Amino acid sequence: MMSVKCAFCKGRGVDPFDLLSKLATCQVCEGRGKVEVSEPAIKCVYCSGTGVHPYGVRITCTVCNGRGMVTVRGKTEVCKDCKGSGRAFESKLPCLTCKGKGVIAIKEEVEIYE
Ligand SMILES: [Zn+2]
Ligand SMILES: [Zn+2]
Ligand SMILES: [Zn+2]
Repeated sequence: MMSVKCAFCKGRGVDPFDLLSKLATCQVCEGRGKVEVSEPAIKCVYCSGTGVHPYGVRITCTVCNGRGMVTVRGKTEVCKDCKGSGRAFESKLPCLTCKGKGVIAIKEEVEIYE
């Protein structure tokens, strides 16, 4: 685990959109300004690391849950379906193949189809 600055509130610990009140704590880091991310992590391509949903109105990114970073384990390759953008071609929702991460894990073992 590593501690990174909360992307959603930019480390300020308060709700960036003043949804509830000016003093509302950030829902992502609960006011701490930092979030824990399991390593290895990469920048969330779906929200460009901002933690804010690119098409939503004032909501957290559903791929990284507002952290701006996503955990990717093992060897990965660029997702062919979204070409690494993390976005489904037409729906603008997170790509189903890579779940919005833009990369997919390469399977180590070779599957045998009979
Ligand atoms: Zn925060
Ligand atoms: Zn994100
Ligand atoms: Zn994809």
